[in-house]
Order: sequence, then C-alpha cells, then structure tokens
Amino acid sequence: MIIYPIEKIRSDFPILNRMINKYPLTYLDSAASAQKPNIVIDSQTHYYRNEYAAVHRGIHTLSTESTNQMETVRLRIANFINASKEEIVFVKSTTEAINLIANSWGHNFINYGDNIIISEMEHHANIVPWQVLSKHKKIVLHYIPLTPNGTLDISRLSKLINHRTRLLSISHISNVLGTINPLTEIISIARKKSDTLILIDGAQGIVHQLVDVQKLDCDFYVFSGHKIYGPSGTGIMYGKKELLQKMPPWIVGGGIVRNVSLIQDATFIDSPWKFESGSPNISGIIGLGNAIEYINTIGIDKIYNYEDQLMRYAVDTLKKIPNIVLYGPSTRVGIIAFNLGIHHSYDIGMLLNQYGVAIRTGHHCAIPIMNYFKVPGMCRASLAMYTNKEDIDRLAHGLIKVEHLLN
Ligand code: PLP
Repeated sequence: MIIYPIEKIRSDFPILNRMINKYPLTYLDSAASAQKPNIVIDSQTHYYRNEYAAVHRGIHTLSTESTNQMETVRLRIANFINASKEEIVFVKSTTEAINLIANSWGHNFINYGDNIIISEMEHHANIVPWQVLSKHKKIVLHYIPLTPNGTLDISRLSKLINHRTRLLSISHISNVLGTINPLTEIISIARKKSDTLILIDGAQGIVHQLVDVQKLDCDFYVFSGHKIYGPSGTGIMYGKKELLQKMPPWIVGGGIVRNVSLIQDATFIDSPWKFESGSPNISGIIGLGNAIEYINTIGIDKIYNYEDQLMRYAVDTLKKIPNIVLYGPSTRVGIIAFNLGIHHSYDIGMLLNQYGVAIRTGHHCAIPIMNYFKVPGMCRASLAMYTNKEDIDRLAHGLIKVEHLLN
C-alpha cells in the first residue's frame, strides 16, 4: 500500500467542501477541468494586490518583477518536462497550441503531395485544425484506426506512413477512453519510416504521467494549464528549439518585433517569445507555475500510482452496477467512460447531479469515437489527485438509484 496524503491534498482544494443539492460535492469531471489548490487560487489575488504590471515592456520595478516571475515559470515548466526554457511557449490552451502549429508550421512547411497522420481517437482539437489545413493544402489526412477495446491499431501505422508524411499527431491519453497510447513504440515506428514530425496532444497525459520530452523524442508536446490544477486560459506548447526557430509567428502584433516600418516586413524577436504577441495572461501563468510546484511537492509518480489503484477500485465497483457498459481498455488512466443500458448520458448526468455527483456527459469533443461505438454519447467519470474512494462509492450509489429510477 502506498503512502499518499489524500486528506492533506483534499484539504488544499477548498471547493471540495461544497455541498451540491444537499450532498457533498463528488467531483468526477477533472478531465474537463481540474479544481485548484489554495496555492494556485491565492497566488492570483496576491499577484494582483502586490505585484501586478505589464511584462516585457517596462523598466520599472513592478514590470521587471512580473517579467521575472513569468520567466521563472517558463523555466519551471521546462524542468517539469525536461525541456529547455527556449522551448516553452505560453499559449491559452491545448486548442490554441495545436492551431498555432497548424497555422505556423503547417502553412509554411506542408506542400501538395504530403500527408499527415492522426488517429480516430483524437479530441476535436487534434482533428479539425488538420482537416482545415489538409483542405487548404490539398493533402491527405490519414487516421490510425480505433479497435473495439478502445486502443489504436498501431500495426496500421507502418502501412500509412511514408516519406511524404510530414506530421504524426496523436494524443498521449484519450480524453474519452482513458487509453494510454504507446508513445515510445509509435514514435519509433514513425522515426524508422520517415522524417515526420511528432506532435503529442498531452492535454490528459500531462496530468497523470511523468513526461520527458527528450526521452520521448517528440517534436511538439502541448497541454492546457486548467487540466493540471492551474488557472483557465493557460497552456503550453513545447517545441524543439531548432523547429521553433524556423517557424514564423502565427499571432502577430506588439511585443514580438525587432522592427516595424511602413515600407518593409516586420522583423521578429527569437523564439519562444516571438510566439507570444500581445499582453499575456500573467496571473494565470504565475498560477500555473504554482500548480506545477504543488504537483512537484507530492510527486507525479506518487499521484500516478495512487490514481492507478483508485482506477482499479472504480472499475471493480462500477462493473457491479446492473446494465452498465464500460468503454475502453482494461488499463485506463484517469478516465472511465460508460453508459447505463439504453439511457441517454444526459439523463444519467442530470440525475446524478441531484446527488451531488458531477460527471461529464455527451460526445466529449470526440464525435468520431461516439460514431465508432454507435452511441450518441457516453458518461465519463474522471479521477484527479484529490479523488478518493468515497467519491467512487457515491458515484456507484448514485448510479444504482438512477438505474432504479429509469427502469
Ligand atoms: N485534447 C484533449 C485530449 C483534451 O482532453 C482536451 C480537452 O478536453 C483538448 C485537447 C482541448 O483542451 P482545451 O479545451 O483546454 O484547449
């Protein structure tokens, strides 16, 4: 049995004390957005009360302090994923990061005759930007197929990939099925066959697993701050240094230019700063830095082990519910998707809410997965570092009551 300070952790997340419909909050929607610890919440007000000023432009004390804080967070995030500071771009979300890559790299380095590979398991954020780019560039977009047990058919990758494959973009952990994709194997297959770039959508992966971008040897790794206990409106795009240097900025304007004239093209500063035009979400970035610090004090490996045990408990418990259908592989990370008989996921979610249980329902921004399993939607319960066994028990009791009610 691992020693894990669950009570202390729960006490650091004040929202967990809330009552919903006279029941204690059972928050099982962390894969959509995680709750925030005091250290993140307090950092926001502290910053606005004591330190706020615009960054990068002023020479006065407050501006310098703000800039230093932001750059300290950049370094902390670089250390967290084993990158260098110059490889960390602040964005507002995973969605923005992928759009940045599609619009900057994609528009400049993809040509007619090339192809891109993604998978049938992706979040819309990792499908639509590539569909738009493919249409614009008249190139082919291939999909690694999903299999009935919720894993990808990796054997198809070596057939799809060829010397014109410019990008393989794939999720680390599925936001619907909790599937953990075998990134090392996928990347090694891709590298053997072509010089394709590898983009990992780490929106779910970064929350549960240690990420080492150098060991992985991916070219991009992107994630959102709000899913990793940080503030909304923050996100990270990691890109290999040489790659970022070659890529032009996508959002352009103030803060990133060396020179602007009325008769010549603007010239830009170095990466990663050239990708951060406009005034950034400074307080959010500082909060994200605190979220990472908080995770570090507990240890991402410890969190993973704890969540892994809890997931086994959740699967065993949910399997006992009459008429439940579970989706996804036997090894799930952080996420469990299910349906209850033929009932619509919205009905289940709405009724569970009466008992204070918050789950996600619907298509989870992954309509191709719903189509694959021939359902309009699924219920999704997701675990976080603060989830406990009582949460799982309350979900199960709620589901038993809902099952009675609907039958
Ligand atoms: N990719 C995956 C795997 C996700 O789970 C999500 C959000 O649920 C996203 C991308 C998009 O994240 P955001 O809405 O923070 O941009």
